[in-house]
Amino acid sequence: MAAFLYAGRVDGYIQRADQEQLTKETINFKTAADASAYAKICEEQGDIKEEWLIQHGYKETLYKVYYKHLFFSLLVDFSNYYNTSIDLAYHGNINVAWALLRKPFQETLAYIEWLYVDRNELLTLMLTSDDTGSYEIVRKKDKIRKHIERICPPNPSDPLDMYKFRYSYKDQLTLNGILQATNHLITSRPALKTSPSGLNFIFPDDEIRHRNIGFYYASIPYVLKYTLDLVMKMFGEIAELSDYTMLINLTNSTLKSLQMISEYADVKQLLHLDQINVFCPKCGHRHNSDEMWIQFAYDHFECENCHNKINTYQFLFDFNEITEK
Ligand SMILES: [Zn+2]
Repeated sequence: MAAFLYAGRVDGYIQRADQEQLTKETINFKTAADASAYAKICEEQGDIKEEWLIQHGYKETLYKVYYKHLFFSLLVDFSNYYNTSIDLAYHGNINVAWALLRKPFQETLAYIEWLYVDRNELLTLMLTSDDTGSYEIVRKKDKIRKHIERICPPNPSDPLDMYKFRYSYKDQLTLNGILQATNHLITSRPALKTSPSGLNFIFPDDEIRHRNIGFYYASIPYVLKYTLDLVMKMFGEIAELSDYTMLINLTNSTLKSLQMISEYADVKQLLHLDQINVFCPKCGHRHNSDEMWIQFAYDHFECENCHNKINTYQFLFDFNEITEK
């Protein structure tokens, strides 16, 4: 299932961030006097002094540190809930699997979106406001909608709407509908109203169970693909990945999501695969065959020249050194 493939990919970012120490940021002091003044303050007060840095013109550096720290921490939180949900679904505990997705899909992801669209706004509120309500995103639905529209502009021909799917109380068959129903025994909004004499999912029959399982595997890849594309952009910028690496990874995740619902010939045309060359990271040999793409979308392909095996299951860092052949 695509959902299982995605789980490993989110973890891949976190492992890489640890390996490369991507959350660290060096302060390039403007003068030797600044460096020694800052060292003195740290020594005397035993901690990083944010106020001193902001007052002396190092706000940008400080915000970079907070940005990376918050981004990777949110990613870990998202991944913890999501991975546990997938495990539970795999073992048949579908209602709890659903219930665990409320926080990552409705809150954690909303903060990652806010960081992407306006990191300075979020960080300033978190650093300076005494009122946590000022940055409590879940109560700011208009803001969430605007962020989603910036990331993924509405397409009138697309029957699915990411905002409505995640948050609507009015539409039928939404992610929010099932998240509310698996977190509350009684729901009262018209579109989500509990049946008379009922309690949500307390008396499940086989039909309801199968419907919930089917909806889980149909809807999760939709939100995960959107999340992965966003996280890939943010991660690529932090890790300074090459444009080629970013292209290969975007192609990889798009292929994986489309192969479930489309014929290869249609996917090939849609993504213009015949115009994308995949170079072996070891010998530089150029690949562009249908056989390679089909294997690429599955979990690995082998270089036809040097037989180097390239694992395409997770995020692909192998291509970062390749610039031009
Ligand atoms: Zn090779």
